[in-house]
Amino acid sequence: MGLLSGLESFGLGKYKNAKVLKEEAQATQKDGEAKKVKTPKLTEEDCIYDKHYICPICDSSFTSKCVRAGKLKLAGKDMDLRPRYEVMDPLKYDVITCDKCGYSSLTRYYGKLTTRQMMDIRDEIGSHFSGLDNSSTIFSYEDAIFRFKLALVCAIVKNAKNSERGYLCLKMSWLYRGLRESDTVHDEEKLKQLQSEELECMETAYDSFSAALSKEPLPIAGMDENTVKYILAELARRLKKYEEAGKLVSSVIVSRQVSDRLKDQALTLREQIKAEMKSESVEQ
Ligand SMILES: [Zn+2]
Repeated sequence: MGLLSGLESFGLGKYKNAKVLKEEAQATQKDGEAKKVKTPKLTEEDCIYDKHYICPICDSSFTSKCVRAGKLKLAGKDMDLRPRYEVMDPLKYDVITCDKCGYSSLTRYYGKLTTRQMMDIRDEIGSHFSGLDNSSTIFSYEDAIFRFKLALVCAIVKNAKNSERGYLCLKMSWLYRGLRESDTVHDEEKLKQLQSEELECMETAYDSFSAALSKEPLPIAGMDENTVKYILAELARRLKKYEEAGKLVSSVIVSRQVSDRLKDQALTLREQIKAEMKSESVEQ
């Protein structure tokens, strides 16, 4: 007696030996195929859109590219907390630039200007700026680095705090790293040059954040004291300032306010600093 026996008398005899269990393997494959067709691969263009702004310096209306954060998936973080995402690097779009007058700023600081700062940017940058082509659909790393440089010049002209300058330089160093890792540059000399520019940005970020930590109220660029110290420790390690790196990372580890996650990272960093110090002393 089969599970479906007895159906013959209802004219459904052909089902009497039918398999009840759904053939999953075949069905899944079919589902998968259907899915593939419905969701095409996400591109960088899918993740950005144009946002409208009115420039506080020249009053013109302009658009700047914004990232749809919800579409992005974090792939991991570097030791200095640089986030890496799948599909694209949102960091490239972190500066808002007016293509008419050149006023540029990290999103975090955009438009937060005193009258004096506005006058200075208008006189020093706006009156000399020749305009920028704003027609590209997505930014290359070079496009992004240029915009970050404009933001850095604006920060200098408006006499920005060291925290803002440090944050810009830290992110710029990440852009140089992103470009190095992007597999678009193959020339050894060019790669060396990018690495030295990355180091230069890190050096300025280190000096600026150190100055900010001793003179500015917390948070520094939205970060608490331990996060800034941790980043400083990692920058110091990359710059081979091992003594400073060791002191900074230890102060994070013994802090009562440090989160478990940051403490774990700090412990890993301390081991790395120790190992590098050891290998350096062997080499010498
Ligand atoms: Zn403008």
